[in-house]
Amino acid sequence: MGKPMQARHRTCNGLSSQHLAEELRLKGIDNEMVLKAIASLRREWFVPEGFKTRAYDNEALPIACGQTISQPYTVARMTQLLNPFEGMKVLEVGTGSGYQAALLSLLGAQVWSIERMPELLETARNRFEEHGFKIATRLGDGSVGWNEFAPYDGVIVTAGAPKISSSLMDQLSVGGQLVIPVGEKKRQQLFVVRRLSDDEFDVTEHGEFRFVPLIGKRGWDETAR
Ligand code: SAM
Repeated sequence: MGKPMQARHRTCNGLSSQHLAEELRLKGIDNEMVLKAIASLRREWFVPEGFKTRAYDNEALPIACGQTISQPYTVARMTQLLNPFEGMKVLEVGTGSGYQAALLSLLGAQVWSIERMPELLETARNRFEEHGFKIATRLGDGSVGWNEFAPYDGVIVTAGAPKISSSLMDQLSVGGQLVIPVGEKKRQQLFVVRRLSDDEFDVTEHGEFRFVPLIGKRGWDETAR
């Protein structure tokens, strides 16, 4: 008899995507679809050689260009706040490793993802192709969004902004939500901006997180790092 699927997901510290999903449930993530997607997505695909053994630890890990793959709890929390549904149109700002985009895609979302660092984008694109994720990507400044495919049901910003980007708000559909960390360079509050009508928005706050800075026209100035 073959080994169970779970065994093949294990890294050499013995942890797996299933363990990670259980840990996140204990930490308060309660969207079953999100937990199921985390349990079935192999985070080790998205972390560099040398960190694979820590792929299922609940921690942010370094990737190229001085950036990070976000902590799994943060990814789960933001994804849950986005209320993902099958066929949902989502814009992600900050492709990074590609893990967040792949998770949204597994949840049935149509994903557009923008990254400003060419090296990261190329690696993420190769991963998407290798593992069969259909995700539209672009190199550029995501702080101003991706107007061509707007409006989006959800916009998720995976880098910390100095303020809520009005361009990203404009690209939401009515009923759509923007999940964005806003604050200082090193620590931010997570905000959800829900579009109620053409010109009405509801803003709620969801606790403190730490992200690398969003650099761009509606983000931080590159020289001010
Ligand atoms: N979502 C990523 C993942 O799953 O690995 C996490 C990404 S990391 C925390 C934030 C990313 O945002 C970095 O790759 C960084 O280069 C990118 N970034 C920062 N400012 C950006 C901007 N204006 N437009 C697009 N990407 C940006």
